[in-house]
Amino acid sequence: MSGAVAIGVDVGGTKLVAATIAADGTVLERRRQSTPAGDGDQVLRTVLEIVEVLDDGTLPIGVGIAAIVDPEGTVRYGPNIGVRDLPLAARLREETGRPAIVKNDATAAAYGESRVGAGRDAASMVMLTIGTGVGGGIVLDGRVVEGRGGFAGELGHIIVSDGGRRCPCGNRGCVEAYASGSAIALMARERLVDREVESSLREVVQLDGKDVTSAAQSGDGFARQVLVEAGGWLGVAMASLTNILDPDLILLGGGASIQAGEFMIPAAREAMIERLIGRKHREPPVVAAATLSDDAGMIGAALLAAGQR
Ligand SMILES: [Zn+2]
Repeated sequence: MSGAVAIGVDVGGTKLVAATIAADGTVLERRRQSTPAGDGDQVLRTVLEIVEVLDDGTLPIGVGIAAIVDPEGTVRYGPNIGVRDLPLAARLREETGRPAIVKNDATAAAYGESRVGAGRDAASMVMLTIGTGVGGGIVLDGRVVEGRGGFAGELGHIIVSDGGRRCPCGNRGCVEAYASGSAIALMARERLVDREVESSLREVVQLDGKDVTSAAQSGDGFARQVLVEAGGWLGVAMASLTNILDPDLILLGGGASIQAGEFMIPAAREAMIERLIGRKHREPPVVAAATLSDDAGMIGAALLAAGQR
């Protein structure tokens, strides 16, 4: 397809989405299917098939995957996909002869936002992606920060309350345990045990984070309070990030958080500013919602791949 500079692929825990992407980040032609679980070879085959359908030429391939990925593009560990030690970038290059890169999905999303989304005017930005967990990505002076083994940017595991709530990673008090979609739902359910609490959420079966956001948008005071509190915990993590990196911008991403941002962002900003070093003498980073929605990782991976040409 004319105008495409690369193919972006987003490999999530349940679905795999791919598209041809233009230089300005426009999504041209898109395909999606379910992610084959538990088998690295199947993931590779599925990516190869979908790439061939989208482009029979030589467009570079950029993959963002919900996993820890080393700087060479080997998927070290992806618990939700069941893949370990898969040299995905090298295998894609061998099988197709095309340039190929593979990155952690949140890292790819941060890069996408920094190039063509809400961060396009920011030299340095940090993105926190709220989903089932809390992901993160750091872009400093236009470059993604990956660290020695690809473990950098695991911002969901900044500890905001030592000995606090248990996190799925095994530690206690990570910001993910207070501000992920799952954590927001769990905190709401715990408080609804108190019969004095009035909320429309009491009627919801299998309450999740999106239900809390919908209730808050419909004016439910209890749901709003839960989101404000989660935003406050995010702000504690943002203060540490800002004290370390002093970015221009902090973005909240992840499909659901864009709606929840109305309640979470002001609370996060306030909690962050209270904890900044030299707060009376500095401009704090702008805190805003990401704009590329669930496509950010796919677009970012494609633009990273296009840059390798
Ligand atoms: Zn954790």
